[in-house]
Amino acid sequence: MKIAVLPGDGIGTEIVAQAIRVLDALDLPFEMETALVGGAAYEAHGHPLPDATLKLAKEADAVLFGAVGDWKYDKLDRPLRPEQAILGLRKNLGLFANFRPAICYEQLVDASSLKPELIAGLDILIIRELTGDIYFGQPRGRRTAVDGHFPGADEAFDTMRYSRPEVERIARVAFEAARKRSKRVTSVDKANVLETFQFWKDIVTEVGKEYPDVELDHMYVDNAAMQLVKAPKKFDVIVTGNMFGDILSDEAAMLTGSIGMLPSASLNASNQGLYEPSHGSAPDIAGKGVANPLATILSAAMMLRYSLNQEDAAQRIETAVKKVLAQGLRTPDIYSAGTTKVGTVEMGDAVLKALA
Ligand code: NAD
Repeated sequence: MKIAVLPGDGIGTEIVAQAIRVLDALDLPFEMETALVGGAAYEAHGHPLPDATLKLAKEADAVLFGAVGDWKYDKLDRPLRPEQAILGLRKNLGLFANFRPAICYEQLVDASSLKPELIAGLDILIIRELTGDIYFGQPRGRRTAVDGHFPGADEAFDTMRYSRPEVERIARVAFEAARKRSKRVTSVDKANVLETFQFWKDIVTEVGKEYPDVELDHMYVDNAAMQLVKAPKKFDVIVTGNMFGDILSDEAAMLTGSIGMLPSASLNASNQGLYEPSHGSAPDIAGKGVANPLATILSAAMMLRYSLNQEDAAQRIETAVKKVLAQGLRTPDIYSAGTTKVGTVEMGDAVLKALA
């Protein structure tokens, strides 16, 4: 099993170091190789995704990614900015399925802005299609309007589109994932208004017939946005398009209250994946030793589950994280009165101890 390790910038190096310690402690036959990405790669090689890094990522079974970016790169031409490395990896590896779990740990219910009874025990998985939809559809651009409400005025336009194979493959990913959980999929669309999403709904329904053991329902995106804050626990797996998924996955993430706790995965058709925390490089706390490494450690657990087929090891890590939280250990982002404040390395130490 080969893992490409791309720590990146800011807190990326600090949190990935802890995830590597945890992976090492599992005593599984991994080969891990580290490479530069993002701002660090730009500094060393003049590009955020150098050829050698891309080659390593392509050849690996999985990529463990930290975070990239720093405000000091904001003035660079767009193709040279650190964040372009993520887009380049997604495109080159064909990562079309984005998994964002939103899990509310019992010990952290007070970190949410929702009432504890609404989110205690929350465990949902949002699967977002990542390479199609209005974000990539052509044509797009600016022009002078020839019709519409204001002919002759400047206008801008984007194109929402999905092809059958794109919808079929993301639907299958969702049904397969649901089989490993409580066997329920909610497909989120806007079929009442958009042709693209009526098409989406029809195809998800068709694919659903191949999975009679999984319960499928459909929900309009506006209702889904409401239900996520009203009764989030009624969801299990949510599958949706790129734009709706972008918005709903951030909404769901915030239900849990802490960005430092949220892992994510992006997978391709052969289950090769990129695993990263949902947060960025946090330049405001980089180098201070206070970043929460748990999102990255939990991303490593997802990597074991989805790309490396090591479910037991994934569960060992998740159980260790729960244990550490139960012991009352907290990095500053999840600290509350009555708990013990620890730094990045101490949190890594505690997870290692809990694993043993
Ligand atoms: P951010 O997620 O880096 O930080 C937002 C806030 O959350 C900050 O206050 C930060 O200190 C805090 N935070 C984030 N992760 C934390 C952790 N593990 N532990 C404790 N606190 C944590 O978002 P931002 O400040 O908007 O962006 C900073 C840089 O990161 C930018 O250059 C942005 O482009 C980049 N970014 C990268 C990714 C990525 O690599 N996938 C994602 C988002 C943003």
